[in-house]
Amino acid sequence: MMTATPAVRVDKDEFRAAVLRHLTYSLGKDADHAQITDWRLAFSFAVRDRIVDPWFASTRASYAAQAKRVYYLSMEFLIGRLLEDAIINLGLRDVAGEVFADLGVDFETLLEDEPDAALGNGGLGRLAACFLESLSTLGVPAYGYGIRYEHGLFRQSFDKGRQIETPEDWLHQRHVWEFERPEAAFRIGFGGNVALAGQGAVWTPAETVVASAFDTPVIGWQGRWANTLRLWAAEPEHGFDLARFNQGDYAGAAAPEAAARTISRVLYPDDTTDGGKRLRLKQEYFFTAASLRDILRRFDSEYNDLRLLPRKVAIQLNDTHPAIAGPELVRLLHDEKGMALDEAIATARGCLSYTNHTLLPEALERWSESLMGDLLPRHLQLIERIDAAHAKDHPTRSVTMIGGGDVLMGPLAFGMAHRVNGVSGLHTDLMKKTVFAELHRLHPERIVNQTNGVTPRRWLLAANPRLSGLITEAIGDGWIDDLERLADLEPMADDAGFRAAFAAVKRANKEDLATFLAQGGAEVDPAGMFDIQIKRIHEYKRQHLNILETIALWQEMRDDPHADWVPRVKIFGGKAAPGYFFAKEIIHLINAVSETLNSDPVTSHLLRVVYPANYNVSLAERLIPAAELSEQISTAGKEASGTGNMKFALNGALTIGTLDGANVEIRDLVGAENFFLFGMDAAAVEDRRKIAGHADHAIAADSRLARALAAIRDGVFSRDDSRRFAGIADNIAGEDKFLVASDFTDYWRAQREVEQAYRDQDGWNRAAVLNTARSGWFSSDRTIRGYMAEIWDAPGIAAE
Ligand SMILES: *Cc1c(COP(=O)(O)O)cnc(C)c1O
Repeated sequence: MMTATPAVRVDKDEFRAAVLRHLTYSLGKDADHAQITDWRLAFSFAVRDRIVDPWFASTRASYAAQAKRVYYLSMEFLIGRLLEDAIINLGLRDVAGEVFADLGVDFETLLEDEPDAALGNGGLGRLAACFLESLSTLGVPAYGYGIRYEHGLFRQSFDKGRQIETPEDWLHQRHVWEFERPEAAFRIGFGGNVALAGQGAVWTPAETVVASAFDTPVIGWQGRWANTLRLWAAEPEHGFDLARFNQGDYAGAAAPEAAARTISRVLYPDDTTDGGKRLRLKQEYFFTAASLRDILRRFDSEYNDLRLLPRKVAIQLNDTHPAIAGPELVRLLHDEKGMALDEAIATARGCLSYTNHTLLPEALERWSESLMGDLLPRHLQLIERIDAAHAKDHPTRSVTMIGGGDVLMGPLAFGMAHRVNGVSGLHTDLMKKTVFAELHRLHPERIVNQTNGVTPRRWLLAANPRLSGLITEAIGDGWIDDLERLADLEPMADDAGFRAAFAAVKRANKEDLATFLAQGGAEVDPAGMFDIQIKRIHEYKRQHLNILETIALWQEMRDDPHADWVPRVKIFGGKAAPGYFFAKEIIHLINAVSETLNSDPVTSHLLRVVYPANYNVSLAERLIPAAELSEQISTAGKEASGTGNMKFALNGALTIGTLDGANVEIRDLVGAENFFLFGMDAAAVEDRRKIAGHADHAIAADSRLARALAAIRDGVFSRDDSRRFAGIADNIAGEDKFLVASDFTDYWRAQREVEQAYRDQDGWNRAAVLNTARSGWFSSDRTIRGYMAEIWDAPGIAAE
């Protein structure tokens, strides 16, 4: 949309000289003694140098155009590695590959040396990362705001099949992408008391920490534009207490610093329930308050009329985690800038919008009034005022922002936003009918849908170079920033030569993955069907349905090993929240089944289960290009959108899935005949839940299901402790909240349909080509354009 500078051009010799210069002068290393990390850091510095100019130019262009800016507030940014993204978007990959080949440094090893920045749990954080990249590609002036966690998501390993968590230390090496901004620091208060003063109030916090900014440039496709990810670190207001130290109180001298730094110490390892409530609320307020002050400071430097705020500032709240932004912005405008309360509320609402990510009631945030009053006393008062104002405008309303002794962050976020969006068609529809039914009736224009998307630069161009090359050869490279051009591939689904080339790419990717898995000790045959389920482990995502079907299939294979079976490699990946007992049991069971099946001499050539540890963005980038079958099997109505499902379809995997989240849209677009649908829809799920003994009925009607459950219960996968997994079987046969038993029979049927389709390799390849050709709509560029038009009213620079 906007070109700040032309795409960067590079000369190989010049680039090589830049890398060597950084090796010598930035790292103090001699080329003869440089280790892989030294090369990687020198390379990163040389790449970074090429980002800074377009980055400055983008900032200057935004000021010059007096453009509306988009601010994306998110507790999580699951950005992964940055080096490969940067060289791809800058057009440096080929040149860099040649430079390191000349230098005798293995380029793949070098790229993999970079730590994976896991400042997020899963889909919500990855969405934020894809959005930042698309905002830069589209040339929209934007900032991402979040927390610079010292420890991102934990590292997962397995000990005898059980999940072990260790801290992730992504900052243990020099983090070259960020620039510290000591001048951009704000004091953030907690607790204390409030004195009414005139129209407003004066809040005197009891405790203050400093939010200090670290900026990472995010470069868009072809380096034309770069935005900023600004992450806040918590620091003590006063440095080290030398007086106490000199008195011999060494621990006491360091205590205030440790207390302050705790706020940005760890990412909460769970995105559906909240842990240490007080600290979590502190984190939320900390980064939201710092971001809003930064936004107002930037606004004040350009304009002197606060009424212009909604025309110049769009603030997107990624879930309710930053929902305290509503009362905080009202506080800043009303208490600190003297705007009348009603006008402050309207002005704040004009800037704010909110993305809902879940309908699971246990995942909707609420904070006790006593905690809120203790930590944020003025905000609690303002929430009461905001709620009262809403009640006055809508006297018949029964929904409130405070209820049952809790502040309800969903209704608060809704009430303070001019737009609220769901993340897939089905999810938005259910939002209107369930969680926000009454608010939707009162504000029928407020809810809009923006189906999620993924950036094609990372999830196709970078992750799957073979397929990218084939596509570009066939239709040119316009698809990279206009993904719907993949439709030009459609006619080639009927071209046997193209299908064969497409299949050869998949086969080569499978071989690469087999080599990688072998390094971790898992042997798989790339001739088998690669069937993959990777995502957080959660009951609603139903990894236990998948493993149960795997067990049933294994039992049938043992009954008749010489039947015409389709060999399969079942791959699982994902972490469980450390406190989520049942999810950890599921991990343990999958690993136990893996051990039993992979060593079964009768079936191990037909069916294998592998579970590489520590699923993260980098592992996703390895697995997805090699997938043939994508497992998207959540209980209908529970997965808001999913984005993993999109990455798979784009890379030519066929989906087996329920009518849930964006699966619905994927199936509509790729065609029902190229998608394996099974299971109850969301309405049937609700009806089924009301039937007493629904699981018993399902088990009584399906002997395969009964037999698979019996194997779990009888200790077939836990010879040393036959009751180890009985809890899982009892859960499925008992409460079965997510209807594993009730959907099993149809899942089994759909899996046999998958095998039937796979036997016809040519037909399968045709469907795979069509999955890629018809997935263009799932680009996050399309999603961002939707937000710009329907939520932010931000046309971007060129159109202004
Ligand atoms: C895309 C992605 C997710 C989201 O996956 P879903 O299947 O949509 O839940 C989670 N984690 C990582 C590392 C991802 O890349």
